[in-house]
Amino acid sequence: MINSAVKTKPKDFIANYEMNNYKYSDFWIGREYEHEAEIFLLQNIVKKHLPDLQERELVDLGGAYGRLLTVYGKQAKRIVLADYSTNELRQGLSNVMHSPIKGKISFLALNAYKMPFGDNTVDALLSVRVMHHLKDIHLFFSDLARVLKPGGKAIIEFANKNHLLSLFRHAKKLDLSSFLREDVTQVTHRKDSQGIKTGQLSIMYNFSYKYIKEKAQVVGLGVEASYACSFLRSTFFKHIFDTPTLLKLESVFQKLFCWTRITPSVFIVLSKKGEFIATDDSVMAKLFCPTCSAALKKANAGCLSCPNGHEFQQNNSEIIDLRDPRPEVIDF
Ligand SMILES: [Zn+2]
Repeated sequence: MINSAVKTKPKDFIANYEMNNYKYSDFWIGREYEHEAEIFLLQNIVKKHLPDLQERELVDLGGAYGRLLTVYGKQAKRIVLADYSTNELRQGLSNVMHSPIKGKISFLALNAYKMPFGDNTVDALLSVRVMHHLKDIHLFFSDLARVLKPGGKAIIEFANKNHLLSLFRHAKKLDLSSFLREDVTQVTHRKDSQGIKTGQLSIMYNFSYKYIKEKAQVVGLGVEASYACSFLRSTFFKHIFDTPTLLKLESVFQKLFCWTRITPSVFIVLSKKGEFIATDDSVMAKLFCPTCSAALKKANAGCLSCPNGHEFQQNNSEIIDLRDPRPEVIDF
């Protein structure tokens, strides 16, 4: 069951990128360094922690328009591109329409707090720049621990509140108290950015590594490793160096200082205990009601329903839409 607060106060919980016709790809214009830095790091993480990715189905949670497909698209056995925004998924579908990998990708609209997957069914999950929008990490990690298979892995990126630049900013104010707290900080959103208009509610959080690690361990997920990313994310460095130079420096820093966690972005690799056994079926073959967890069946061509009367209208034959709450109730 979904946590009751998510149900009663969905506006506080769902970062709805479907609002205001926001296009996530626009966010990445001018952020080529950050994008490539993440690709470079993820390729190394996959090589080290998911060397058997060709035997695994990968769920890209918050995968939007498939920005990170270059990391895992060729290698993964199957792919589920999952996001709350159907606009993003439609863009993703259009991007791979003529690609040889299209046949192994499923498109799924969902609420990350209640994934419509069965217990112990997910081989691998990737989630980049999503935790930033999660108010209740415990709720998300509980569901992640439920759906991961034994031996299943999750690569999770979070916005790090204790990065070097933040230390300097706090030091300048002669107040390190909030920097030193090992918890969560709600981020004040710049006006009219990332799809949020002035006056609308933004849902953005930065976390400490210790906080994330403890939240993962509480639900039984082990932390295999952590990696620092985006060492040079600052307008200062962007003024001095061009993108290729920034990326050369980034690759050196990622090799030498990956363990430092001084960057604004940190990746962690989580795993569920047990031996991984590859299976033939996709998680998409048997989906569950996000409202009550009962198995879903097709009511008619345009609708999925569960035995308890929860119905999910489908508007696109290639995108399964199992969002609860629905976007119309979180238009804030
Ligand atoms: Zn149901």
